[in-house]
Amino acid sequence: MLDKLSSALKKGFEKIAGAIFLDKKTIDAVVKELQRALIQADVNVMLVKELGDKIKAEAENEKIKGIERKEHLTKVLHDEILNLLGKEKHELKIDKNKQTKIMLIGLYGAGKTTTCSKLAAYYSKRGHKTAILGLDVHRPAASEQLEQLGKQNKIQTFTEKNEKSAIKIYEKYKKDLEAYDLVIIDTAGRHSLDNELVNEIKQLTDEIKPDYKLLTIQADIGQAAKTQASEFKKVADINGVIITRMDSTAKAGGALTACAETNSPVYFIGTGEKPNDFESFNPESFISRMLGLGDLEGLLEKVQSAIDEKSQKRLKTKLEEGEFDLRDLQEQLKNMSGMGSMSKMLEMIPGFGKAKDKIPENLLGVQEEKIKKWQHAINSMTEEEIKNPEILEKQTSRMARIARGSGTTTSDIRQLIKQYKLLKEMTSGGDLSNMDMSQGLNQKQMQKLAKKFGKKMRM
Ligand code: GDP
Ligand code: MG
Repeated sequence: MLDKLSSALKKGFEKIAGAIFLDKKTIDAVVKELQRALIQADVNVMLVKELGDKIKAEAENEKIKGIERKEHLTKVLHDEILNLLGKEKHELKIDKNKQTKIMLIGLYGAGKTTTCSKLAAYYSKRGHKTAILGLDVHRPAASEQLEQLGKQNKIQTFTEKNEKSAIKIYEKYKKDLEAYDLVIIDTAGRHSLDNELVNEIKQLTDEIKPDYKLLTIQADIGQAAKTQASEFKKVADINGVIITRMDSTAKAGGALTACAETNSPVYFIGTGEKPNDFESFNPESFISRMLGLGDLEGLLEKVQSAIDEKSQKRLKTKLEEGEFDLRDLQEQLKNMSGMGSMSKMLEMIPGFGKAKDKIPENLLGVQEEKIKKWQHAINSMTEEEIKNPEILEKQTSRMARIARGSGTTTSDIRQLIKQYKLLKEMTSGGDLSNMDMSQGLNQKQMQKLAKKFGKKMRM
């Protein structure tokens, strides 16, 4: 995401930190590079100019001297970028004791349907009883797409393939929906915000009275998001925005900053095609990640998204009791493959942002392949072997049998056992077993973990 902007920002900070003398020439160079990157990310030229002027003005403040000046400028740079992105983190208020309805609206291809299922999965994993309601009656395949996504994410989905009136579909399921504390509603798009769409949104919102009307925008449109957000605000009174396809465009910066400009809070961003490629948007941690400082909160959110509450609790008990077998490792591996690519994960671990550049892409790919192989191998084991993997090392004939049965090699299985022992050692060391997984890890624990992984996880 925003690779060029990210590297310009990093360079800017490094230049300021490394300069012996913060003279005008250095400042001008940093500002120029940053401005170029912002414009490439499709940020509004006027905003870019303002940002440059502010940084330069602060740099000329003669009252602040020496090291303090560097710190001051670093902070100004950080704060100005934060300002562009909208400063605060916005969260939807969703009460478990009262039903909340969220309606996604937007143009064709904005990512509404995909995002409905991502959003439903996001809240379902956080313990909300969630259903999806499909009201796109315009595209023939819409209900099938939604149902498929719902099934994939184990979310109850209500659709009606042959009904041409969205209101009628809602009326039909109104009673059923009362059983859910969160209802996510997919609607039809159009090529543009025309009268037909406006009328349809009006009709639906009058009848359904959603608590949130969220505009879905694809990041590809860059700063054109400004017009879209303000128009939808005018005619549909939207509460905020979800930006999708952050992963597939260099213009994402434009879309983000345009929403901030129109005071349309960005609640979530979509970062890929997989169900878990979705996160709540927090400007502060977004910047830290761009700067390669790692983003604990974002990482934890992903970890929590991927591991549902039940399996978290189960794992915690296992760890506390010092029991951890291959079945548990398998569950971990499954969770990991749901988290999106390994490289995206690593980016979020403090200190790994930099290290990641040094790991060749294809090696990270191999890692994911390996995870698949390990899964197959575990499936070919007997209960005894799963509970007590150490016996495999003593009886290599078992290893050969498993390799044959699972289409893997004995060396794959040796690596699997190594990984298992490593995890077991880590968990029995007391560090992990003391963690309250449901509360997330604190920063210290996370750094400790990162350090351990850094040393031991050779890929
Ligand atoms: P709708 O017409 O607004 O309902 O849009 P869809 O949900 O059908 O999405 C349109 C396309 O965008 C689909 O191919 C999705 O897989 C894709 N898409 C949605 N969100 C993302 C995302 O965050 N990243 C990427 N790369 N693709 C996405
Ligand atoms: Mg759709």
